[in-house]
Amino acid sequence: MPSTLTFDDLKSQVAAGSIDTVLACFVDMQGRLMGKRFHAVNFVETSFKETHCCNYLLATDLEMATPDGYASTNWQSGYGDYVMKPDLATIRPLPWLEGTALVLCDILDHHENPVSHSPRAMLKKQIKRLEALGYEAKMATELEFFLFEKSLDEIRKSGFRDLQPISGYNEDYHILQTTKEEGVMRPIRNHLFAAGLPIENTKGEAEAGQEELNIRYSPALDCADYHSIAKHAIKEIAWQQGRAASFLPKWHKDRVGSSSHVHQSLWQDGEAMFFDASKPHGKSDLMSHYMAGLIKYAPEYTYFLAPYVNSYKRFAKGTFAPTKTVWSVDNRTAGFRLCGEGSKGVRVECRIGGSDLNPYLAQAVMLAAGIKGIEDALELAPATTGDVYEDAKAADIPQTLRMATQTLRTSAFLREALGDDVVDHYTRAAEWEQEEFDRTVTDWEIARGFERA
Ligand code: ADP
Repeated sequence: MPSTLTFDDLKSQVAAGSIDTVLACFVDMQGRLMGKRFHAVNFVETSFKETHCCNYLLATDLEMATPDGYASTNWQSGYGDYVMKPDLATIRPLPWLEGTALVLCDILDHHENPVSHSPRAMLKKQIKRLEALGYEAKMATELEFFLFEKSLDEIRKSGFRDLQPISGYNEDYHILQTTKEEGVMRPIRNHLFAAGLPIENTKGEAEAGQEELNIRYSPALDCADYHSIAKHAIKEIAWQQGRAASFLPKWHKDRVGSSSHVHQSLWQDGEAMFFDASKPHGKSDLMSHYMAGLIKYAPEYTYFLAPYVNSYKRFAKGTFAPTKTVWSVDNRTAGFRLCGEGSKGVRVECRIGGSDLNPYLAQAVMLAAGIKGIEDALELAPATTGDVYEDAKAADIPQTLRMATQTLRTSAFLREALGDDVVDHYTRAAEWEQEEFDRTVTDWEIARGFERA
């Protein structure tokens, strides 16, 4: 990632007293920044080489529980340490936190080998495979989320009841309503820009209180780093303003859900390899093979685009969230949309992912699917047209976490691309999420049956 601070810059700023804190962070299975706050002097003197964290951090759920069933880390092996190795190319200031810089870390074992189920390592592995074929992937992940009137702390203390979005009406592309939200959104754009992220824009989205942040497309690893930092910043900056930002894909059954569409293209020596002016839509054969892989294996990798029970509530007819694994030209009802038709900007947008996806995992599995499409020269079916929700012939996206867990568990393609250990690890994460949900008695069940059952 093009950093805005070299290590020497950081040292000078620490010596001058303008930076006193360095956050050393890695990204966990859920896509969260986890790590430590270093006194900056300690970081530039010694900890820049490495620091450590408990290995349960890549085998926990959102509640920090320690589920059984993971081969890599468990009570029997005593939950030892991983090495957090700062990637010094990622140092940047975090202007919304006083005197603070951030560095992202890779997770290594005690022999300095990357931990195979670490999200950043998983993406790097697929990027390397693509490089071996001679290509570089450029990606953009859109970030959709909701802003609420109250703060995260107030909402949690009141039991997540009576949630009031920050606006009273659908604010899709709305300038008047989004002006009212500039107290939160302007610092988000400007602080992230000052942190070195190529921010394009924010806009109102198609529901009350719903926002979107767009970051310029970048090499895949940078894109995932940007997404993780931006998602974290959005929550933190909203919190500083006494508001809540939520990336839960579906917070209300009658409200539109939040997604994270992923735009993808392949490049070689600065040339857009998805473009071929002589072909229909300007779509090269390479792009067709890549898309055919994306579509063929979508049911197998859906878990990585929709990792929770709630993620599947978003996939509803007539909501702009897809239900079918087909492609179309600039048609928002299909799982895959060809954008930038006939231009060098021609690309495929995957619309399946929810706002809760982990960008490293999502990009890793989609690159793996695209690579498989290229290696096997898969043929792309013709584009679908019209309202794809009503297309009975088109294949469905797995409709529940349970179904997606099963397609993940039995995927020979993912086992080959990611490794058995990695597929087993994430299958266990998916199972645990379902087990926790299954033993919960929901408000809906009580309201429905308490008196009348
Ligand atoms: P839309 O109007 O559909 O939202 P945009 O023009 O805003 O489309 O682009 C959406 C995202 O696609 C942006 O983040 C942009 O940086 C990204 N993008 C543009 N060109 C490419 C490309 N060639 N490859 C990957 N992503 C791209």
